[in-house]
Order: sequence, then structure tokens, then C-alpha cells
Amino acid sequence: MPIASINPATGETIARFEEHDDAEIDARIAAAAAAHRTLRGTGFAQRREWMHAAADVLDADVDTAAEMITAEMGKPLAQARAEVAKSAKAMRFYADRAEEFLSGWTLDDPSAVGASRAHTVYQPLGVVLAVMPWNYPIWQVIRFAAPALMAGNTGLLKHASNVPQAALYLDTLFERGGFPEGSFRSLLIPAAKVEGVLRDPRVVAATLTGSEPAGRSVAAIAGSEVKHVVLELGGSDPFLVMPSADLDRAVATAVTSRTTNNGQACINAKRFIVHADVHDAFVEKFAAAMSALRVGDPMADGTDIGPLATRSGREDLIELVDDAVAGGATAVVGGSVPDGDGWFYPPTVLTGLTPQMRLYREEAFGPVASVYRAADAEDALRIANDTTFGLSSAVWTEDADEEERLVAGLDAGAVFVNGMSISYPELPFGGIKDSGVGRELSAEGIREFCNLKSVWKA
Ligand code: NAP
Repeated sequence: MPIASINPATGETIARFEEHDDAEIDARIAAAAAAHRTLRGTGFAQRREWMHAAADVLDADVDTAAEMITAEMGKPLAQARAEVAKSAKAMRFYADRAEEFLSGWTLDDPSAVGASRAHTVYQPLGVVLAVMPWNYPIWQVIRFAAPALMAGNTGLLKHASNVPQAALYLDTLFERGGFPEGSFRSLLIPAAKVEGVLRDPRVVAATLTGSEPAGRSVAAIAGSEVKHVVLELGGSDPFLVMPSADLDRAVATAVTSRTTNNGQACINAKRFIVHADVHDAFVEKFAAAMSALRVGDPMADGTDIGPLATRSGREDLIELVDDAVAGGATAVVGGSVPDGDGWFYPPTVLTGLTPQMRLYREEAFGPVASVYRAADAEDALRIANDTTFGLSSAVWTEDADEEERLVAGLDAGAVFVNGMSISYPELPFGGIKDSGVGRELSAEGIREFCNLKSVWKA
């Protein structure tokens, strides 16, 4: 894939960028390693000041940054603005909480290990490579970079090839806040160059957010180098609706959860598993609400859904839906590609899905909802867990016993009860099964790239 910014609403190329050559890659790794030696000698108070200053820069840039995001990957402008604001908030969260999260602990009874004192300290690891996706081009990067830098690590970003403007914006953001030169730099490289960077001895760990094949590839390289890796991969999150739920609220939330970010979020609800008693009513209301959404220019006020970010992403989605319809599924609304420029796809609701269809197993990255009928709560749980993914999930019920059973039984990194999956700096984020390993955000996220050192004193 060329490193180019292409407007998905029109298909027009905004700008093309030269890849960094091997000398430039080497210089950026060297700068990151040198910056780490400086950064690990600074205290939390200094880093806090720089992180707050960088957050202020991001907030001040909200208009241009949001327009850049929307032009480059097509999400509605209001959502791009929200992404920028959320990113600045997370930077302040880690600026203010890093010291507490990394304070370590002291053994109450050191004599149990024959010591006069025993305690732990968290120390930074060094240069971490971040391979990131285009769907939240600022937020996905910030949620790694803010904790990593506050811990005293430095970062190298290999961003998705279709968001180079975001990569270049992030290339200077932290230095504009005062962080030492080289603390966080972008590498304009194709995916094929990731291996060389990760095998470089100056790079000590990696994090990847993206698809499962990309994650497997990076994890295999990291494994062969014995380097720590965090993976945030795909998801096909279930959204369970039980008879006791407030159906109108569940439907409204289901629509938002399926279509936010043009349906291209890892934690969009993708499979709606509805108890037979309320299935038909849910489908009727859900289909009506989905078809009422406004699809169009993501820069325009009032647009709910913009284009998909890439031509190939739309082709993948078309193939998934066509496969399901050919196998006997019904497109209650949507399901056909509109004429005209840009990579638009309509909000789509499918019923009658079977395990033989690709959509049963694969992630639909776009505004396509699969609705399943469940005989009862146990059947809903069975369908929900019949997937290789395990990122997040949602449960709608007013029955306390049922809630407890479903929360305990769902194979997922998170469960949202009577709500929808959202990432918060305060809560751990990550998946199980093929959705990934490790955690981002919260105290867990900042500790991922630290050496937890035990200190024993006679
Ligand atoms: P992708 O193709 O895997 O790309 C993600 C990043 O990985 C890009 O920077 C890409 O570079 C790079 N990459 C691709 N193949 C690689 C390889 N073999 N080795 C090293 N790097 C490689 O994913 P995407 O289609 O852009 O993003 C959508 C996927 O990300 C979905 O599955 C979604 O669920 C997942 N996602 C997960 C989370 C989460 O937190 N769990 C969040 C957001 C998205 P190029 O662009 O140069 O190919």
C-alpha cells in the first residue's frame, strides 16, 4: 500500500509521502534510544508538565486535527473532534496518575523472605514500537503513547499507510509539549519494514493494534526476539437483549454501538443476539432506526455515517454481506452498494444467519449488523461465545440473576450492562482469545511496558 492520504468520500488523493529510507529509520531509532536515556533520568513532575503542555497543544489544534482525520479516513467531523478531545483528556489522566500507578509496593512482613525490607519498583523498558491502525488515528496512538512516555519509555510509531498526515502530526506533538527530541517519532514505512525495526536490538518491545494476521505476524517476530508484545486485535462483539430490557433504549444504543466511527471500531457491537420473545419487535425498531441514519459527506453537519476508510475495506464488507445473502440471509435494510464516488456503504441489518456463513465467524468492519434469535439466556450465551474473538460485549436485562449469569459467562475482556462498549482511560481495555493479549489504559496499561523490579535488602 503506498503511503498516501486519500479522501474516502471522493477517492481523490490528497497527498503522497516518501517512505523513510534505511538511514532515516536508523537515525530515528537512535534518537529514540538517546531520548530514553534522557527521559529515564527525569521525574514524574517534569514529565507531567510536558504531557499537560502537549495536551494543551492538541486541544488548541482540535479544529485542524479533526478536519485532517475526517479528510483522511472519513469519520463524521463531530466524531473526529470528540476523538481529539478524548485523546487530550487521556494525556492529562496519565500525566496526573502515572506516579500513583507506578509507585510499587512494600512487603508487610519482609522477614518472610529473610529481608529487613522488600519492595517493588516499576521502571521503563526503553524504546517501544507501536504499530497502529487508521480507525482512530489519534486516539489509538495516544492511548499507547501517553502512558508509555509518562513511564519514561520512548516510542516509535508505524502508523497505517492511509493516515500519514496523522502520523506526521503525532511525530511532533510531544516535542511541542517539551519532551526531549526523539521521545516519540513516526516512521513512514510499509508493513514489510516492521520486522527489521522490531529485530533491532535498540527496540525492546512492541504494541500492535490492528487485524489478527498483522498481530500474529508481529507477535511471532517479538517471540523469536524474546521481546514483550501487547496486541489489540479484532472483535465481533455480541450485544445481548433480554425480554426484561428497556427495548427502546436498547435499540437506540444498538444503533449507536453498531454505527459509530462508520461501523469501523473494534468494539462496535456487531452481533445482536435477541431473546425470541422480543426478537421481532427489536428487528422492526432496529431496522427502522438504522435506515433513518444519514449517510453522506463526513464534513457536513448532521451526517451520521461517512464512507468506509478504504476501497479494499468496502470490498471485504461487500463480499461478507453477499456471501450471507447468497447463503439465505435476509437484508432487512441495506445490503447494496450505492452509486457514485467514494466508498460508502449503507447501514445494513441482516437476519437468518447460519454458522455456514462467513459473517457468523468474521468481523464486519462497517455498518452491518447481524441479528440472531436466541431461545433463552443460555442460548444467547452460547451464540455469543461461539466465536474466536473475545474483545468486549454488552448485555441488556433488568433481571439481576440473569445479569450475574451473563456477565460471568461471557468470554470477553469487558461487559457493559445496559450500555455500549466504550474505552475509558480509567478502565482496562483488551481482549481474550484471538482479540489479543495484554491490556491498555488504566493502571494496567501503563505497567505493560515497565520492568517490575523486586528489591530485597538483608
Ligand atoms: P491492519 O491491516 O492489521 O493494519 C494495522 C496496522 O498494522 C497498520 O499500521 C498496518 O500497516 C500494520 N500491518 C499490517 N500488516 C502487518 C504485518 N504483517 N506486519 C506488521 N504490520 C502490519 O488492520 P486495519 O485493517 O488497518 O484495522 C482494522 C483492524 O484493527 C480490525 O480488525 C479492528 O478490529 C482492529 N482494531 C482493534 C482495536 C483494539 O483495540 N482491539 C482497535 C482498533 C482496531 P499498513 O497500513 O502499512 O498495512
